[in-house]
Amino acid sequence: MHCPFCGTHDTKVTDSRLVADGDQVRRRRQCAVCSERFTTYETAELIMPRVVKSDGSRESFDEAKLRAGMLRALEKRPVSAESIEAAVERMRQRLRARGEREIQSREIGEEVMRALKRLDQVAYIRFASVYRRFQDIDEFRAEIDRLAQEPQFPPNDEQ
Ligand SMILES: [Zn+2]
Repeated sequence: MHCPFCGTHDTKVTDSRLVADGDQVRRRRQCAVCSERFTTYETAELIMPRVVKSDGSRESFDEAKLRAGMLRALEKRPVSAESIEAAVERMRQRLRARGEREIQSREIGEEVMRALKRLDQVAYIRFASVYRRFQDIDEFRAEIDRLAQEPQFPPNDEQ
């Protein structure tokens, strides 16, 4: 890190601590040449990947849209706002953790289905029936049967 006072690159860290609830690292530095002190802040880069739509066009990740889709599926279901927010946050983390610059919109849809499956199975079926565009009632029934055979997750269980 260059000294902002004299420009030398010979500076040392004299103190380092977590701030902003651990989301930031504050470092006190001192220049070895001119002895001036300064502070730097380090924050993780929280950039969401760009979304590639099925027609190949790109758009910014839209958390409001993702939440709206989930809320539509969860309408009148016994799921707390807190659980929904926790699920949205987990999804954001999972998408970010991929470390990709771009992500297929289909993959986001899969993440939403995964989250809804854990929150509420009725909401999951509602979302999946629109998202996967079940061709007929047999396909729909097959998905419900598959669901019935899977082990149940407690709603707020991690993973
Ligand atoms: Zn200096």
